[in-house]
Amino acid sequence: MARIPMIAGNWKMNTTVEDAVRLVTTMLPELDKVGGVDKVVCPPFVSLAAVKEIIEGSTIKLGAQNVFYKEKGAFTGEISAQMLAGLCEYVIIGHSERRQYFGDSEEIIDMKIKAAVENMLKPIFCIGESLEENEAGRTEEVLTRQCMASCDRLYFFGGLVIAYEPVWAIGTGKSATSEQANKTIGFIRQLIHHRHSGEIADNVRILYGGSVTAANIAELMKMPEIDGALVGGASLKADDFLSIAQQASEIRGVS
Ligand code: PEP
Repeated sequence: MARIPMIAGNWKMNTTVEDAVRLVTTMLPELDKVGGVDKVVCPPFVSLAAVKEIIEGSTIKLGAQNVFYKEKGAFTGEISAQMLAGLCEYVIIGHSERRQYFGDSEEIIDMKIKAAVENMLKPIFCIGESLEENEAGRTEEVLTRQCMASCDRLYFFGGLVIAYEPVWAIGTGKSATSEQANKTIGFIRQLIHHRHSGEIADNVRILYGGSVTAANIAELMKMPEIDGALVGGASLKADDFLSIAQQASEIRGVS
């Protein structure tokens, strides 16, 4: 069975509720028509409810950008998986900005994944090497650790999405080449094959993320291992995000 590509927009800490409503309202009519690709928008927590209302009944899906691993209690400022469960389908976990600025360790990421899965949220699990690790030739070692250390349970959960995001390509305008991304994503799939099974490896969707734009998505989508993109900056521009989704659909859409 062919893997359905996914184009997911990570809006990060951008957009007020008003901006988010405007952005999704602008995208909606055309994005809704794009077939054969899962289209996901991930606005900030405070805009989830408003965006949910607007996309209700459309083909656009909703994701959160983070989740806390505890169910409830005295954790001021945090949002639990239980709270998100009624609101969205996906949740980004392990983004490099969370790892870098908020201390999300492998252990914490694992607990977040567990909480998400227990609440029927589908994780978009981010992994990727830093520039230093890349230059030291340690990419495969880092990805093996990130992939294997903490998330065995994930592979038995249908709908898992992995996003390979080399840290040096995020927000820098310096995307990995499509060949580089294809090779590394192929490596991740092999890891899953060896650790689990060929069937799980064949079914898991692995996205590329890092300076994806309307100008480079076509090259990326032509690569057999790349199942879509996690898009940061370009997901904040309605026309660009739409074009990215349309091109993904034309090249690899699954009917
Ligand atoms: C991201 O934040 O996941 C990302 C890939 O950002 P950008 O597309 O801006 O590099």
